Amino acid sequence: MPITVIEIETPPIITCATCQACCCQLEVLLITETGVPDHFIQHQDDSVSTMLRLDDGWCAALDRTSMRCTIYELRPLICREFEMSSDECIDERDAYGL
Ligand code: SF4
Ligand code: SF4
Repeated sequence: MPITVIEIETPPIITCATCQACCCQLEVLLITETGVPDHFIQHQDDSVSTMLRLDDGWCAALDRTSMRCTIYELRPLICREFEMSSDECIDERDAYGL
């Protein structure tokens, strides 16, 4: 009896290792104190602070060579809670054609 072979499409593996730090172009509100150095902080007004983004849109704390966070241990809460493979992550990657 012939065996029917069914090809199952493997979904792309989503990992930061094959990304270009897409999520590090999003606005990051600082809602808790995690020790982010002041030179990486943009004070919008007395009550709102965000991570400083440079002219090209990327967070000032991103190392452009490695595309890794230079303040990983001190990164904001929002960065800690941004989940790899989450819908938001996939949306950001899609926006950059990854
Ligand atoms: S969390 Fe998602 S969007 Fe952010 S660097 Fe990792 S794979 Fe890319
Ligand atoms: S603080 Fe780090 S993880 Fe957060 S956006 Fe900047 S570079 Fe990315």
